[in-house]
Amino acid sequence: MASQEAAPRQPRVLLTAAEIDSTVARLAAEMSARYHDGVVLIGVLRGSVPFLADLVRVMTVPVSVDFMAITPYTPGSGRVRLLKDLDLDIAGRDAVIVEDIVDTGLSTAFLRRELERRNPRSVAVCTLLDRRIRRVVPVEIDFAGAEVADAFVVGYGLDHEGRYRNLRLVAAADVELLADDPDVYVPVFYGSPEFELE
Ligand code: 5GP
Repeated sequence: MASQEAAPRQPRVLLTAAEIDSTVARLAAEMSARYHDGVVLIGVLRGSVPFLADLVRVMTVPVSVDFMAITPYTPGSGRVRLLKDLDLDIAGRDAVIVEDIVDTGLSTAFLRRELERRNPRSVAVCTLLDRRIRRVVPVEIDFAGAEVADAFVVGYGLDHEGRYRNLRLVAAADVELLADDPDVYVPVFYGSPEFELE
């Protein structure tokens, strides 16, 4: 019936803006407590950018920032490759890889190996989201935000085909709806009072 084909299924909000803020504050406090001498935060482009930007603003120790980019791991492609390397030398320094989400763990394991070869004092991992259920390789997470179940998520850095990164929340989205129309959630997220960006 025509009347039933209206709005797409509502995405499920997993983290509200307030929950993101408190998670960021907790992780920033944990890192500030560990790294009195300062730390290099290494953002993984592009998904970690909002998270990293918010973290550094509430950390209370000296922080340097740099970025790396890698090819996304896809089954069959064999391996992850470095697309953009660090500009900073991390030898003798404490470094933290900042991730939006650790899923299979392949990207994080690759980055950790890459960084450990550069003789840093330490390498740790901080992630906003952790989807342990999908892990393929073990990854030690030193600063963990929220655990998520097996659903595709968007928002706060996480995209689908470049969309939804600037949402102030994290939501589980329907991959079949997105495959049909990547813009399917645009009216929901950017036009509805329920999903106001503040
Ligand atoms: P991993 O190598 O751990 O499988 O994947 C890491 C990267 O895959 C993340 O940094 C993220 O960019 C992407 N990714 C994994 N799961 C999701 C998801 O549910 N939503 C989005 N938008 N990206 C994801």
